[in-house]
Amino acid sequence: MAQIDNLPPLRAVIAAHDLQAKKALGQNFLLDLNLTARIARSAGDLTGSDVLEVGPGPGGLTRGLLAEGARRVLAIEKDARCLPALAEIEAAYPGRLQVINGDALEIDPLAHLTPPIKVVANLPYNVGTELLVRWLTPAAWPPVWSTLTLMFQKEVAERIVAKPGSKAYGRLALLAQWRCEAKIVLTLPPSAFTPPPKIDSAVVHLTALPEPRFPAPAKMLERVVAAAFNQRRKMLRAALKGLDPQIEARLERLGIAPTARAEEIGLESFCALARDLASPGTNGR
Ligand code: SAM
Repeated sequence: MAQIDNLPPLRAVIAAHDLQAKKALGQNFLLDLNLTARIARSAGDLTGSDVLEVGPGPGGLTRGLLAEGARRVLAIEKDARCLPALAEIEAAYPGRLQVINGDALEIDPLAHLTPPIKVVANLPYNVGTELLVRWLTPAAWPPVWSTLTLMFQKEVAERIVAKPGSKAYGRLALLAQWRCEAKIVLTLPPSAFTPPPKIDSAVVHLTALPEPRFPAPAKMLERVVAAAFNQRRKMLRAALKGLDPQIEARLERLGIAPTARAEEIGLESFCALARDLASPGTNGR
């Protein structure tokens, strides 16, 4: 295995610091530094960008990010056992790595960074979707980050890039694709990780668009999409009744079949419906 820096191989790091993986923390480590460098490269040119990494663990991806030229990496790790291994990386890249020991759900790390900011992470499966939704729904758009390059369980990655008419299509696809370009850039088998998870994983690369693809009030769009897919097997006229008792007439006026199901409806129609529901004079609430 080629080394990307002068630090010890990751297996030696794990043995030296006794980093037995903990399932409760979603710990499936990447130990192949060629692979972590490849993931870092899939985030695009890192030189000149600050990078947020959630869950560095023993630091395989962190080393890839630094070796690929990230200006600065801020890494948030919940498991204090990983800190000595990360301190060795800090020492090898003076002034370029900052590690915060804490829960990424409780810290707003983006506030500690200077744009341009890229987020790159092999996310713990138990908090991955929640973090993604937070990054996709900031108070204002464009967001403070320019790209997100994130490893998920493959099934979650497929939900992010899904198109209408597929089982995977739903809230995550709409939230992601409304204001981002989203694509799967790498798929990895369980054997890429230590310990191996039960299923394949995939890296999704999301680029923030300067403007949403179609105008819509964000909060209303989120409400419409949540209502539509909470009862995805129901027809829209039933699933959306809670938003407007006259929803059937409204859908007809907008040219959306009231008998259609959420998974048949494209982003443009959801945006049109959210705009209509939010506009005064149309019983908007
Ligand atoms: N980046 C490392 C790699 O690729 O080998 C480790 C990835 S592992 C899938 C997920 C990491 O996230 C673990 O190191 C785990 O301790 C950490 N973690 C889990 N929950 C976390 C949370 N809420 N906040 C920050 N880190 C968390």
